[in-house]
Amino acid sequence: MYDVLVKNGRIVTADAVTKGNIAIRDGRIAAVLAAGIEPEAETVIDAAGKYVFPGAIDTHAHLNDPGYEWREDYEHGTAAAAAGGYTTVVDMPLQNEPALTNAELFDRKVEAVDANAYVDYCFWGGLVPDNFDDLKGLYDKGCVAFKSFIGPVSPDYSPLSYGQAYEAMQRIREFGGRAGFHCEDFSMIKWQEQRMIKEGRLDWQGFLDSRPVLAEMIATVNIIEIAKATGCKAHICHVSSPDVAQKIKEAQQEGYDITAETCAHYLSLTDKDVIENGALFKCAPPLRSQEEVDRLWSYVEDGTFSGIASDHSPCSYDEKFNEILGNKITNVFEAWGGISGIQSCFQVAFYEGCVKRNICPSVLANAMAVQPAKAFGIYGRKGDIRPGFDADLVIVDPEKEWEITSDSLYYVNKISAFVGRKGKGFPVITMIRGRVVAEDGRVTGEKGYGSLIRRLD
Ligand SMILES: [Zn+2]
Repeated sequence: MYDVLVKNGRIVTADAVTKGNIAIRDGRIAAVLAAGIEPEAETVIDAAGKYVFPGAIDTHAHLNDPGYEWREDYEHGTAAAAAGGYTTVVDMPLQNEPALTNAELFDRKVEAVDANAYVDYCFWGGLVPDNFDDLKGLYDKGCVAFKSFIGPVSPDYSPLSYGQAYEAMQRIREFGGRAGFHCEDFSMIKWQEQRMIKEGRLDWQGFLDSRPVLAEMIATVNIIEIAKATGCKAHICHVSSPDVAQKIKEAQQEGYDITAETCAHYLSLTDKDVIENGALFKCAPPLRSQEEVDRLWSYVEDGTFSGIASDHSPCSYDEKFNEILGNKITNVFEAWGGISGIQSCFQVAFYEGCVKRNICPSVLANAMAVQPAKAFGIYGRKGDIRPGFDADLVIVDPEKEWEITSDSLYYVNKISAFVGRKGKGFPVITMIRGRVVAEDGRVTGEKGYGSLIRRLD
């Protein structure tokens, strides 16, 4: 007798889409059975006509908790993740107060957020110029990677110089961790921004021109070289450009352990959206051209990416449109840069990839579950449909049409560049460890059910 049987679905793994049944016991996948073999179970879910994906893993989300709850918190952010089909969220260490930069703060953060999580979660550890001695402690606590910047960030989270990145990656290499970077070259962006302001180019084209692909390319290539020199595993965050993806692919082909993620917005939205609609579409790196969006998909298809992340970066309405800390936003450079997408990424990726571009669902399972779990050291428990793995599943109705409305969003701030988007193919059931936590876009799970997942290796 099993607890749950998910039957008649088209089971999607990285290798194949096969009709079959999944038997679940004690929160784990007990057996993957051929179609027609239907053992008894307490609960039976009929997934006929639907795809059954491994639960998606969001490799990059800012849940902003503790400390910045006016932007987002665990309760709202993880509820949104559940509704959208992300069963595990890898949460960023910054836009936290304090930022997650040592082992003691790791425990404090778990204490602060655990009772509010609807989905399972992992932590990125902080990597800033003054916490190199704390990295091993964070790693031992279970951090899955370390996040740093080669570009401007908020005053409470400093970026690394290339020299500092070199030392940090030598240190992280010693204990086998992975260093992740926001790759946009600081000096180039800062100079370009000043140049635009000097030339009076305070419009959205000015913003786009201040963050060229070149800035992303230079930072990425440098980090790849530092990774090669140190032997440290590296992760390139939120790649927006197919030319940058090509450099990463070449390093992978040379045998270096360099992983990367892109985001649903880089696979669906364009620079035109920024020009036409402004602040809601501001993010960093910025959105690129339609031609680049189309080419970026080929790097999802060939497996270059270990993650289609949300880079969920919420803010209040005022931070996007009106003012920050009492100062009026006077130009495009001052509006908050970040797109809220944790609830809609999976459906957007499915629609753009599997419906519009006719890409095999296996590609998505690989990019959103299998490879992320491997890159972040939680494969074996998360990321696949195999006996022994947590029963984290997303059941997708490929025929179900959707339109994203702000009412449907679970975010603290119900604003998103994705509001108004329409598509087909919707995650109708999200299951975590054998329990249904969301149905038809509505959260049915319990707050606090989500658990901390520490790195396994
Ligand atoms: Zn981010």
